[in-house]
Amino acid sequence: MAERMVVVGGDAAGMSAASQARRLRGRDDLEIVAFERGHFTSYSACGIPYWVSGLVPGRDQLVARDPATFRDRFDIEVRLRHEVTGIDLDRREVVARDLEGGGEVRAGFDTLVYATGATPIQPGWARGGVAGVFGMQTLDDGTALLDWLEGEPRPRRAVVVGGGYIGVEMAEALLHHGLSVDLVEQADQPMSTVDPDMGELVAEAMRGTGIGIRTGRTVTGLDERDGRIAAVVTDEGPIPADVVVLGLGVRPNTALGEAAGLPVGPSGAIRVDRRMRVPGTPGVYAAGDCVESLHRVSGMPMHIPLGTHANKQGRVAGINIGGGYATFPGVIGTAVTKVCELEVGRTGLRERDAHAAGFEFVTVLAESTNRAGYYPGARPMTVKLIAERPSGRLLGAQIVGWSEAAKRIDALAVALWNNMTVDEMTALDLGYAPPYAPVWDPVLIAARKAVDALAHSGR
Ligand SMILES: Cc1cc2nc3c(=O)[nH]c(=O)nc-3n(C[C@H](O)[C@H](O)[C@H](O)COP(=O)(O)OP(=O)(O)OC[C@H]3O[C@@H](n4cnc5c(N)ncnc54)[C@H](O)[C@@H]3O)c2cc1C
Repeated sequence: MAERMVVVGGDAAGMSAASQARRLRGRDDLEIVAFERGHFTSYSACGIPYWVSGLVPGRDQLVARDPATFRDRFDIEVRLRHEVTGIDLDRREVVARDLEGGGEVRAGFDTLVYATGATPIQPGWARGGVAGVFGMQTLDDGTALLDWLEGEPRPRRAVVVGGGYIGVEMAEALLHHGLSVDLVEQADQPMSTVDPDMGELVAEAMRGTGIGIRTGRTVTGLDERDGRIAAVVTDEGPIPADVVVLGLGVRPNTALGEAAGLPVGPSGAIRVDRRMRVPGTPGVYAAGDCVESLHRVSGMPMHIPLGTHANKQGRVAGINIGGGYATFPGVIGTAVTKVCELEVGRTGLRERDAHAAGFEFVTVLAESTNRAGYYPGARPMTVKLIAERPSGRLLGAQIVGWSEAAKRIDALAVALWNNMTVDEMTALDLGYAPPYAPVWDPVLIAARKAVDALAHSGR
């Protein structure tokens, strides 16, 4: 009899695991069933801001593979609108509720992939179910927001609460959709994934786009009128709103797994080993936004929910389930984003992370341009490096600039991944031509500055 693999959660991690296992195992050998409570599989949540803004014309473009494709090409059965409500590790079976047809389905498994993702953080004041308030995590959330934006009375004023990357991307999306937008952030700068000095550059640029940046403000409640959102109440007074998007970060979606006995690590996410196996539970794997990953610089387990990790982790789980051998080597937290024309990249540790991990370090800020200064379109770019003292090993890097900035972080990520020192980096053979870089690339200028800072740092 064929073995059965059951997947809980039908997006990046879960469906990568399913597809990879199918590539390695014959159809007669392995039956694969995936349960997804939403309306879509293998969709790009990352694309939601560009769909809401109107840049991507339709939702279907964000769906990489639908259930029919999984059935016909991969012999994977996807049960949409089925929410798994229980996992019994002793009986090796899951129970799912059919959200449309009603009733319950039970499915036994030999291997299980727990890939439930994350859920947007909803503070107490957001939990009252006020109409016009949206978290952003799935395509269903994007659909609900667009329906509201296009309904009557037509919303004109948007407030985004939280200035993380999802918050700033959604602020841009709502601006492009034609709304006036305020972004409220409790900290003094948006983008807490970079250090405050770099976050201030983001704030400055956002103000220039017309987005109202209200930092240092705490949201305390919501006001509604006639059953619809009317204002976001802050410690400095109300901000009128016809629509509110929450960008307060996410939590790993662990409740179902924890109830079944899956272990949770210090970061609050499901613990896994290098092969994405859940320790102490034979045949159970977990991957994606619901798990914690080893940070290769701090050595700590961390919850860094990104699509890039979810796809790789799902693939590793699928290879191992398929009978191959693969490991996930950990993360360094590389991420890029843009807000209007401004690009932001980051990798490794911020100053506060480096302090927390006990490193001694120097930091440098290097101001430069994306192209040769004389070449048309040259725009400013700021590179920040954090280097261990006295070794000179790169610990972290951040870039903010107007164009061709974000993906420059990849060179720094490769250097960091390979434990390079800033001294070694100064000699990196990076490409140069006036349309693409000054003769000393901003990355190299920053590395040279870091070498100088280390020389003057007293060791
Ligand atoms: C607006 C936005 C922009 C983003 N931009 C980027 C970006 O630019 N770069 C990047 O790297 N990452 C980005 N991300 C993050 C990225 O989308 C996630 O890291 C990725 O989707 C995680 O994949 P996952 O499969 O682990 O979880 P998810 O994509 O969350 O999928 C989990 C699935 O499980 C389903 N599920 C949960 N519980 C159950 C249950 N009990 N039964 C059945 N189904 C269940 C959910 O409905 C969901 O579809 C963005 C996210 C958002 C929301």
